[in-house]
Amino acid sequence: MSQTCIIIGASHAAAQLAPSLRQEGWEGKIIVLGDEAYLPYHRPPLSKDFMANDKNAEELLIRPQTAYDKFNIEFKLGVRAETINRDHKTVTLESGEVLNYDKLAICTGSRVRTVSLPGVELDGIHYLRDIADVEGIKEDVAPGKSAVIVGGGYIGLETAAALRKQGMQVTILEMAPRVLARVTAPEISEFYTRVHTDEGVIIKTGIAVAGFEGDKHVERVVCADGSQFDADLVVIGVGIVPNIELAEAAGLEIENGIVVDEYARTNDPDIVSAGDCTYHPNSIYGIRLRLESVPNASDQAKSAAASICGKDKLYSALPWFWSDQYDLKLQIAGLSQGYDQLVVRGDKDNGRSFTAFYLKEGKLISADCVNSPQEFMVSKRLILAGKVLDPAKLADTEVAPKDLLV
Ligand SMILES: Cc1cc2nc3c(=O)[nH]c(=O)nc-3n(C[C@H](O)[C@H](O)[C@H](O)COP(=O)(O)OP(=O)(O)OC[C@H]3O[C@@H](n4cnc5c(N)ncnc54)[C@H](O)[C@@H]3O)c2cc1C
Repeated sequence: MSQTCIIIGASHAAAQLAPSLRQEGWEGKIIVLGDEAYLPYHRPPLSKDFMANDKNAEELLIRPQTAYDKFNIEFKLGVRAETINRDHKTVTLESGEVLNYDKLAICTGSRVRTVSLPGVELDGIHYLRDIADVEGIKEDVAPGKSAVIVGGGYIGLETAAALRKQGMQVTILEMAPRVLARVTAPEISEFYTRVHTDEGVIIKTGIAVAGFEGDKHVERVVCADGSQFDADLVVIGVGIVPNIELAEAAGLEIENGIVVDEYARTNDPDIVSAGDCTYHPNSIYGIRLRLESVPNASDQAKSAAASICGKDKLYSALPWFWSDQYDLKLQIAGLSQGYDQLVVRGDKDNGRSFTAFYLKEGKLISADCVNSPQEFMVSKRLILAGKVLDPAKLADTEVAPKDLLV
């Protein structure tokens, strides 16, 4: 009798996992459950090209319907999985419908962290996670009007760039002493502060938002120090939380995410998990971590598909990320936490292209490469090589990127 694999969540991880199942030899049914109305789509452009109206919703799709049809992958969209019963191997939907599975993949990703401040329910105040959010934001975009962005992380900065492009007056309010404090060195924060300021964005750091005021629609943001900022539009980007509740209620092991091994297997032999919601081992850094990135979701999904088919496909990729703001393409190789030396190559203080190498005990652990694709490629190899490097050579722009490898 044909077996059934159910995938919960229909985004980057699922879009890879489902076709990979076929490639690994799964002959049974594949059913993907997603609570959004769309086939899996590229989420990164939401704060970039889609926000700036350079792409429409149709162009965001990861694969067209025909590609899934070819693999005989069934989607149930606009439905939410409410519970998993591991004893009976069933998933119950919000509608009450019960689906049987032989194998289950949990790809529930993450959701925005919300704030409970006075006035947050006013019209014109938005979060940013899905197409519907951006469509809501777009209704409040108007040239010359004021936008306030709460949170100076990558999503906040990308949104600022996209809104400036559309002629809005943009202010970023960040509680930490600098933007990107959680993810980069102070030198990189300084660079992005300079660029955004040059582009006309006002950045206020060390400032706590206390609430929002307006009559039905937001009119201003009020801060704890008494300062106020006019706002016709507010976008809140203060991080995400993993969607682990479904797995947790089913008794799967949870710790900062759904705990999986290096093959994306949970503590239930019939259940795998991939993407933003997992807490997984990374052999390169020798730690467990939860990552919020598309390459992580896609690569881990390949291992998850193999595991479902009884094969071992190790997931041990070097984490990498990107961010697009204005004409700046930032590519980040590796994880910088724990670095003890920063080496900058290029004119970070005046130009718009440079690389920041993060070293630990002389070895490269991470690199932020702004408009420097060759340095990015080289950095990935240098991190994996794990050799002690000469900082002076890394910093010397006369040395070609490929010669850093020798
Ligand atoms: C604005 C924005 C910009 C980003 N930019 C970048 C970038 O530049 N580079 C990068 O690498 N990453 C970026 N990311 C992060 C990246 O999008 C995520 O890492 C990626 O989407 C993770 O994919 P996923 O499949 O694990 O989960 P998600 O994309 O979070 O998808 C999970 C899906 O499951 C659904 N779901 C959850 N629970 C249930 C349930 N019970 N039943 C049914 N469906 C359910 C959710 O609604 C969602 O549709 C960005 C994210 C955002 C929001």
